[in-house]
Amino acid sequence: MPPTELHDDVARQIADLDIDPDRPIVISDADEVVLQFVAALEDFLAARPRAMFLDLSSFALTGNIRYRDTSEPVPAADVKALLAGFFEERTEHLSPVPGAAEALARLAARAQIVILSNVPIGQRDARRRSLQRHGMDFPVIANSGAKGPAVARIVSAITAPAFFLDDIPNNIASVARESAEVVRMHFVADPRLARLVDPPPDCHFHGGDWPTARAFIEVELAERGY
Ligand SMILES: [Mg+2]
Repeated sequence: MPPTELHDDVARQIADLDIDPDRPIVISDADEVVLQFVAALEDFLAARPRAMFLDLSSFALTGNIRYRDTSEPVPAADVKALLAGFFEERTEHLSPVPGAAEALARLAARAQIVILSNVPIGQRDARRRSLQRHGMDFPVIANSGAKGPAVARIVSAITAPAFFLDDIPNNIASVARESAEVVRMHFVADPRLARLVDPPPDCHFHGGDWPTARAFIEVELAERGY
């Protein structure tokens, strides 16, 4: 696979981070890791003038968003606009994943925390505000595309251990390609979604529960003398 490039606006956001090179870092996705994306999307789809639902039969959105009246899938060409509408209307209102704020608060005593989300850049501030309200007052990077290049840039200045959490196997693979040293954690909060996806071969942890994820990170840090 060809190397993916870092978008200029993502590079600028990363340049604005206040990174400590000697402190461990936890880089976490937001949707389905610290925020309940699927539940909010289902609610949004049900509220459209022509109601839709998410057919949770495979780990994908396109093809699985269906009209309630006919069960026909929403055409792929329309899914992008639908998701853009979702992020515009609902980003501020997603519920937190249970235990996420507590776990990250504990980890923040030993590590710097960055949220790396593929939220559209126009909703970056809304995402930040929503996370703050739920006790997760951490910097938010609005990424676009696979996450390997952004993670590689963030950790390039860091000598301490780095951890990456995401629910999407492609992002885990992308980070494995670009930053082999980063500990990769496949985390899927919604249990219905978790059943649809196998642990990616290149992850070091697979789960959907924050106390377990926190304990895993703490053991890794202790073993490496941090
Ligand atoms: Mg996600």
